[in-house]
Amino acid sequence: RPDIPALLHDIFGFPGFRGVQDQVVGRIMEGQATLAIMPTGAGKSLCYQLPSVALEGCCVVISPLIALMHDQLRAAQAVGIRAASLTSVDTDWRETQDRLRGGDLDLLYVAPERATGEGFRSLLRSANVALFAIDEAHCVSEWGHDFRPDYRLLRPLLDEFPQVPRLALTATADAHTREDILVQLGIPREGMIIAGFDRPNIRYAVHPRDGLPRQLADLVAANPGPGIVYAPTRAATEKLAESLSRAGRPVSIYHAGLDPRVRAANQAAFIASEDMVMIATIAFGMGIDKPDVRFVAHAGLPKSIEGYYQESGRAGRDGEPAQAHLYWGAEDFARARQRIAELDPARQQGERARIAALGALVETGTCRRAILLRHFGEDPPATCGNCDNCLAPPASLDATQTARKFLSAVYRTGQSFGAGHIESVLTGAVTDKIRERGHDKISVYGIVDGEETALLRPVSRALLVRDALETTEHGGLMLGPHARPILRGEEEVRIVLPPRRERRKRGARTG
Ligand code: ADP
Ligand code: ZN
Repeated sequence: RPDIPALLHDIFGFPGFRGVQDQVVGRIMEGQATLAIMPTGAGKSLCYQLPSVALEGCCVVISPLIALMHDQLRAAQAVGIRAASLTSVDTDWRETQDRLRGGDLDLLYVAPERATGEGFRSLLRSANVALFAIDEAHCVSEWGHDFRPDYRLLRPLLDEFPQVPRLALTATADAHTREDILVQLGIPREGMIIAGFDRPNIRYAVHPRDGLPRQLADLVAANPGPGIVYAPTRAATEKLAESLSRAGRPVSIYHAGLDPRVRAANQAAFIASEDMVMIATIAFGMGIDKPDVRFVAHAGLPKSIEGYYQESGRAGRDGEPAQAHLYWGAEDFARARQRIAELDPARQQGERARIAALGALVETGTCRRAILLRHFGEDPPATCGNCDNCLAPPASLDATQTARKFLSAVYRTGQSFGAGHIESVLTGAVTDKIRERGHDKISVYGIVDGEETALLRPVSRALLVRDALETTEHGGLMLGPHARPILRGEEEVRIVLPPRRERRKRGARTG
């Protein structure tokens, strides 16, 4: 029997297991099928790398991203594991196949489309396979945010080698996706091991976008360490980089449109730096191990709670205090819904649920961490003491009346004007546009004044988030499916007021 603690120490240099690693490795050593759900940074790779050296035979790792694979390959080789990969960019196929057959490999990385082919299956028949590790296992589920049809074809491969244990790994799986992984990959329920998702050293904060370049410049000025800013598009990364480079900090960018050499150089510079701000699309970060990232900011709405958790989770892996800031706008929700409408109908339900979950996260006046952890199936305390809402509980108020005025102004002006015009109508502004369209003659003209004026922006945001308003293709507003219950007085609209400091700043800017 192999001496696991000795291997852990001698090969990987770790004094002990972390979290659920020992449970997972223990099951694999017993030959039991396992699904390990462990947050990013929890040390998933060790869960198969250690068995790969402890067990007789080769561990086959199925991994969807070649770049990620090669990072892990290098890391494994660096500690002396006999590892190789079979991908489209590898040139030493024959040698790798010979080593596999000759029992000279501990670890073999392959992409799913390769793994499910008949050629690969017959290769495995001539080798000694010790373990199948399926990385990013959420890709097997249509519920997951990253469905890959090839993952569906893994089951026959796994079943052809019934004596070989299988280990599915993922950082991101809501209850639905988990269930799917178990079924699709043939893993019994008791084989599911979930690690704690809380990252207590990360302080979460969410802000409506309001002059983003300035908001980011303030954030960067207050946080001297390395940081990542995620932007929704390539163009946005370039634009933000330009404005942030004036803040006196080294800035770099990363997105899929850059030359691969530039990308690699930028990434290396960031990893080596102690104060660089990396502005990137979500193409950046997978497989990157930089423990001292002090903040992660999102310039727009992430794709899902899972995505947000994973991306923001790149902050503070060293356990020291770190921050995660999310800047969102109502238009993010509008755009996401438009994208969903163009999807295959079968996928729309899952995507809608993802957007609703994000809506709950950004709109809440309660603990952000609690919302995140509940999403991952945990039962956290109601307050964490380390998020914006726990540190400065925001005031909330019933804005149902204002919301109804807003919705009826949208309706009465013909459902084609933007928020700015609607606000002008409601506050009784005198503009050419209003006069020409006769909008000064409708009943809602000028029915909002005084303090209520300040509520119009947050109210329109709240209405967009909950699908009571939708955007037209020309950027105007129209009523959405959730407008009716609000107009009828069946549903309340509560809004959270931003903390005092931000409110004053905004007031100073507009007033
Ligand atoms: P994941 O794939 O879950 O995001 P990794 O496998 O990349 O995480 O591991 C994250 C970091 O944790 C790596 O730097 C790794 O070396 C380190 N690590 C993993 N297991 C242990 C352990 N038992 N003790 C100390 N450090 C560990
Ligand atoms: Zn909290």
